[in-house]
Amino acid sequence: MSHAARCRLYVGLALLAKLGATPALAADYAGPLVDAHSHVPNATAIDAYVAAMKRHNVTRIVLLAVGGVQKDDAAWIAAAARKYPDRVAPGQPLPDPTAAAAATRLDGELGKSGARAIGEVHIRQVSRKIDRNPADPAFVKVLEVAAKHKTPVVIHDELTAEAAKALEAALAAVPSATIVLAHGGESTPEVLEGLLARHPNLAVDLSGMHFQRTPALATEKGPLDPAWKALLVKRPDRFLIGIDVWAARLFEPAMLDRLMTWTRRILGELPPEVAERVAHRNAAALYRLE
Ligand SMILES: [Zn+2]
Repeated sequence: MSHAARCRLYVGLALLAKLGATPALAADYAGPLVDAHSHVPNATAIDAYVAAMKRHNVTRIVLLAVGGVQKDDAAWIAAAARKYPDRVAPGQPLPDPTAAAAATRLDGELGKSGARAIGEVHIRQVSRKIDRNPADPAFVKVLEVAAKHKTPVVIHDELTAEAAKALEAALAAVPSATIVLAHGGESTPEVLEGLLARHPNLAVDLSGMHFQRTPALATEKGPLDPAWKALLVKRPDRFLIGIDVWAARLFEPAMLDRLMTWTRRILGELPPEVAERVAHRNAAALYRLE
């Protein structure tokens, strides 16, 4: 293509974007990318992950615990943060979020660990028969400690109408605490739109909504779901992208390549300023990543 033809193409694409039409050739998002939600299954998997980060310009990973399933989570996360201090933002495990002593213990741990996130905290997970009340007084105390340390709490909460009501009670109980609802709460854009409108202290991570899971934002090659896209454009400051790797098989380099490529592709379907926020700016602000 000649220089002049290329200029005409760019001007045409810019015009289309201004008109709100999606250019046929939406390019992958190419800016910085923070994985705001992932896990490691052992002490060494982080090496393969960091190698993939370098291949795909993933700048930071927020490394979270898996809610008491892995007893060595705290040690693995701390070791990964020591080995890769510029890349790994550590999360503080909280396996017993409604225990009477949880808040006091968390207060002491956060003071020492310098964690940037608390969690992942399992509030409601059907497959593991976990069903906790986030408005439980013990968890409200956890939220107060989180607010004091300005550290968001990442929760796994598979929303039903009843679970959403309980979550709203927790959000209202401690407005100064930020709750990050992981995996979009396995909910719908319609439900999240209402929650986000009513609760400024709620953020949503889109981790684990990739082509291997349901609900997914998109298949591996297909377009970003229009209802999700509309909500991201409406509330660009409230969403974080994440990959949610956890099992050892997901750390195969080819699988990490597919997941990261998919992530950049769907972000590329968003208006550039929305993509920037969801890809890294919101995570950087929320988790204090310099
Ligand atoms: Zn997770």
